[in-house]
Amino acid sequence: MSNQKLLTFVQGMSRLLQDHPAQDVTLKAGGELLATLVAKDDWLPDMFTVPHPQHYQQFLLYADPLDRFSMVSFVWGPGQKTPVHDHMTWGLIGMLRGKEIDTHYFKQADGSYRRAESHILQPGQIGSVSPETHDVHEVANFHPDQTSISIHVYGGNIGRIRRHVFDPVTGTSKDFISGYSNAVVPNLWN
Ligand code: FE
Repeated sequence: MSNQKLLTFVQGMSRLLQDHPAQDVTLKAGGELLATLVAKDDWLPDMFTVPHPQHYQQFLLYADPLDRFSMVSFVWGPGQKTPVHDHMTWGLIGMLRGKEIDTHYFKQADGSYRRAESHILQPGQIGSVSPETHDVHEVANFHPDQTSISIHVYGGNIGRIRRHVFDPVTGTSKDFISGYSNAVVPNLWN
């Protein structure tokens, strides 16, 4: 099986990040690379598209050996959603299949988190998170009856980063490390 589209994206991100661009440049140029990747849903190997009946899955597709970026296939079963959480690094979301609802939260003076407007991501559309401006959000599968899949790219090895889930009302946080759902990754070298 050829993973040429995935390899082309990984090459593009590696070239972009080797000069350590400013974060707004990374999000814009990386977002364009990701938009190209998710423009057509014909490249993600089936083994990274499988939902779990109880919880969403995060399949690692590639992790840069220097931790400059990682990418995962985020697979939503019907009606599944995340808690309110942060990332501690920039992130890009590229919608591949189905739709998801992205809701950002903003910290208030009293420590609680205010829920902002929700956005529905359609196939081909790009969303983002950034510790500088909008790192806290909650994401849900738009569909109560079908799988949705988005491709996420982060500015570090996201499965190993210690980050947080929040109770938005009290502002209380709990640490978590997400890890990955898969034991094998796509072969980009054959
Ligand atoms: Fe997230």
